Parts: sequence; C-alpha cells; structure tokens
Amino acid sequence: CGIVGYIGNKDAKEILLSGLDTLEYRGYDSAGIYITDENATGHLFKEKGRIASLREKVDQSVTAFSGIGHTRWATHGIPSVENAHPHQSTSNRFTVVHNGVIENFEEVRDAYLSDDTFYSDTDTEVIVKLISWFAESEGLDTIDAFKKAVVTLKGSYALALVDNTQPDTIFAAKNKSPLLLGTGEGFNVISSDAMAMIRETNQFIELMDGEVATLTAGTIKIEDLAGTVIEREPYTAEIDA
Ligand code: GLU
Repeated sequence: CGIVGYIGNKDAKEILLSGLDTLEYRGYDSAGIYITDENATGHLFKEKGRIASLREKVDQSVTAFSGIGHTRWATHGIPSVENAHPHQSTSNRFTVVHNGVIENFEEVRDAYLSDDTFYSDTDTEVIVKLISWFAESEGLDTIDAFKKAVVTLKGSYALALVDNTQPDTIFAAKNKSPLLLGTGEGFNVISSDAMAMIRETNQFIELMDGEVATLTAGTIKIEDLAGTVIEREPYTAEIDA
C-alpha cells in the first residue's frame, strides 16, 4: 500500500517510521522496515496491526544509515507477520518492499523457483526470489537481475530493493503504481507519496514505468531497461511539512 526509503546522513529508522505514520490514512493491515547499520548489517522488523506496535518492536539501539519500509494492504495472503513486507531472498541477501499485484507470480514461481522455499503466501516473495535467482544462479549484477525480474513480472508494482552486498545503494522500479524519488543535502529518499517524506525534502523526481533508479546518499541515477540514462529535474512538492 505504501513505500518509504531513506539513504543518507541521518538515522533512517525514525524517518521511515514517521513516514509510515504519515501513510496510515491510506489504510493498511501490517507494516515493516528493513534497516542497515554502520557495520552493513541488516535488521528486519515486521508487525501485524498498527505502526505503533511496529515501533515498539524496532531495536532502538540500531543506528541505520539506510532502510526501506512498507505498509501492507493484503491482496495475496492474510494479514500476518509472515506476509508483512519487507520480504527476503532465502540467502537474506536481497530485501524487497512492494505495492501492487503481480499477476503472473504463480507462473514465475513454477518456471524459476520450484526449488526455493516460500515463507509467505504473498506475490511479493516471488519478486525477491526471482531477483535472487537471476543474480545468484545466472550470475547477473544486481541492477541487471532487477531489470530482468521487472521484464519477467506482469502486473502493477512499486518496488524498492536492497542488496546487502551493496549496502550503500537502494534500487527502485515501478509499473502502474506511483513511486517518487526525493533528493536533499547528503541524503536521498523514495516514497509512494510525497507526503510521507515531506519533513525531509520537498524536491521530488517522478519515476516512470519501465525505468530503474539507483540511489545512494549522494546520487540518483535513472535509466531505462536498455540502460539509457535519463535526466529528469526535481519538482517542488507544494505540501506543508
Ligand atoms: N500484493 C502484495 C501483498 O499482498 C502487496 C500489497 C500492497 O500493495 O500493500 O502483500
């Protein structure tokens, strides 16, 4: 239902949690965040129900320089901790949050992932395991594995991806579901809704269908699926923080 992401010079966990608080009005049944600390260790927290309950679960001793978060409105699988996002590859190398519906997830699972173990009933878990398959079994770079997954999947999606072997980067892509890239001094963000990140920045770049974005704390790169780099200036979101 809602996506947030942050990479930069401030502690990501509170920024993500307040972003998810802001998205509450859209409705959701569960929520989660995945954050990466200064030792490049990832931490996953998921909870059914309110953001306030998720907040209580989050280890406040972790200082995170990046992370992704999600509020879920279940389409595949009941509201539960197991089905809450983020979802991870079996190796835990890849972590994904997803808004939308993957129409061909059963076909994709049967074609590529019949040996994998699934922990949830979501269409989303197929996405992260497919990316992992292309990266680890076919040996593709993460960006190419992500692009190949995007080409293979049919449906609507806004996606944020973290690869724990590249912890200074967040990847994003979309089809028919909105996703914005926000930019500031020493940080960048992603958000399905500018409102969720307006306390951090009012400078947003719209990501279009068929594009993949690579964000670090200091850079945003947008390219199409053929690898052509796309230059797009930010616009100013007129929302009060
Ligand atoms: N289809 C996914 C699920 O059921 C994502 C739903 C959403 O957009 O929140 O988990």
